[in-house]
Amino acid sequence: MDGLMQRRSLALPPVFHRAEQIFAHKTMVTVRPDGVRSVTIAAWAQRVRRLATVLDQLGLDTGARVGTFAWNTQEHVELYFAAPCSGRILHTVNVRLFTEQIQYVIEHASDEALFVEKSLLPIVWPLRNELPRVRHWVVIDDGSDVEIPTDERVHDYDQLLARAAPFEGRFEVDDENSAAAICYTSGTTGNPKGVVYSHRSILLHSMLNLMADHIGLSERDTVLPVVPLFHVNAWGLPYASVMAGATLVLPGSRTDPESILDLVERQRVTVTAGVPTVWNNAVPHLSRFDLSSLRIVVSGGAAVPVVLSEAWRVQAGVPITQAWGMTETSPMASFGSLRSHHDDLDTESLSMVRASQGQVLPLIDLRLVDTDSGAEVPWDGTSVGELQASGPWVASGYLGDGEGGDSFTEDGWLRTGDIAGIDSYGYIRLVDRSKDLVKSGGEWISSVDLENHIMAHPAVLEAAVIAKPDEKWSERPVACVVLHADELITGDDILNHLADRVAKWWLPDEVHFLDEIPKTSTGKFSKKTLRERFYPSDVNTPQR
Ligand code: AMP
Repeated sequence: MDGLMQRRSLALPPVFHRAEQIFAHKTMVTVRPDGVRSVTIAAWAQRVRRLATVLDQLGLDTGARVGTFAWNTQEHVELYFAAPCSGRILHTVNVRLFTEQIQYVIEHASDEALFVEKSLLPIVWPLRNELPRVRHWVVIDDGSDVEIPTDERVHDYDQLLARAAPFEGRFEVDDENSAAAICYTSGTTGNPKGVVYSHRSILLHSMLNLMADHIGLSERDTVLPVVPLFHVNAWGLPYASVMAGATLVLPGSRTDPESILDLVERQRVTVTAGVPTVWNNAVPHLSRFDLSSLRIVVSGGAAVPVVLSEAWRVQAGVPITQAWGMTETSPMASFGSLRSHHDDLDTESLSMVRASQGQVLPLIDLRLVDTDSGAEVPWDGTSVGELQASGPWVASGYLGDGEGGDSFTEDGWLRTGDIAGIDSYGYIRLVDRSKDLVKSGGEWISSVDLENHIMAHPAVLEAAVIAKPDEKWSERPVACVVLHADELITGDDILNHLADRVAKWWLPDEVHFLDEIPKTSTGKFSKKTLRERFYPSDVNTPQR
């Protein structure tokens, strides 16, 4: 017997219409070069309706791909809703990719229109002849003085909106499994791969962001996504904030630490999210700002060293809470807020809990698999294996790539490429990316653990550990270290610091001092670039 409940699709239009109706008085804030702009949700929703008409007028059919090339702005959030609610598919292009990759993803996704912020035109407009499928280039005025090209394909966003009548009535998306948005993986090896989110997956993921044991977004929150809107839908925060009626504060392109902390203070931000590099760079400035409004600082995308989370806890009064996930998992799959079984822990033990990747989220299934034997590894906190994931907001394949090759198991689980242990409470401790583990004499050394210990040295700002090819041991660890300004220490100081923290055979063979650790397009340490720099001949040898 079927249940007798209405089969209403889990799609984005009801999120939009509810916000338009009941949160009309609330606001959305964007930082622009000429100051901070605030609009009511009523005005924003009218612009979303006008934009839906514009998409019709541009001749974009149902299912057409609408590309965006933009930072975190109100206009970008307009596109976040207008495209999928009107049956098109939003493709948020990562503006930090290499030019060839930008061209590749726009072409691969078959984008027919590209909405570009004016200051970013010099990056993409030169590619126009290589992108014949892009019929419309819509320029969003971000206040920069870049000249807009005179070309019949080029339109002005605000002018189009001003001339279009608002779409009337309710948006409808009948098939909850239809595509709503595309994000590409950062593609450190090979071309980026397209992950296609459905209305259903985005809706469920947004609801999860509202759950009390997760971020617990509420109408009272003021949310500042530092993570770019082109990186995995800014971790779902724009959709979830509109669903909750929370105030979105969008920093535009200004994501330097002082601008971010200033925005937290002025806008009384309660929730913010970004990669660890953002939070690490902010530490020297914490004491100069009033950050008392913050209730949660979310970090994901890379491991958070104990010393970083503790610096925030002590200096800003709020520790960093880790989330773990991937582009393929929408991205939230685990979250590190504390549970009742942590209540009696002392400060040091709590800091260790916070250094973990948190507890598996509801509706996400995880398993650990021994990469050699294929056997499942128990959740006992000490055994480790490859983390595999399954769930309603986990990808089942990649755009145009059938079943996604060896990224998925025969029974359809996502192979994350992360090596981890899980304890009996479902808390994940990530040991490493499988390709970043250092294999020395048949044993594994966790680059994440070593980095964590090196960054605990007070003179160290950043540390990345890579594998050096070694005839005897196969690989040996090498540390790349960036010091705080005006600090001067030697490699031996680092090794002495590590001596009573790690096993002797874990000690790096070399310590290199750099001005900066190179970063990927999403702000993580680019170990691939480091390996290319130090061991160019080894880079093309197949990695695990
Ligand atoms: P991306 O798809 O670019 O967001 O990258 C996903 C990868 O980032 C994961 O497979 C992990 O290796 C890494 N990652 C994400 N969150 C964390 C975290 N909290 N701690 C350590 N690594 C993380």
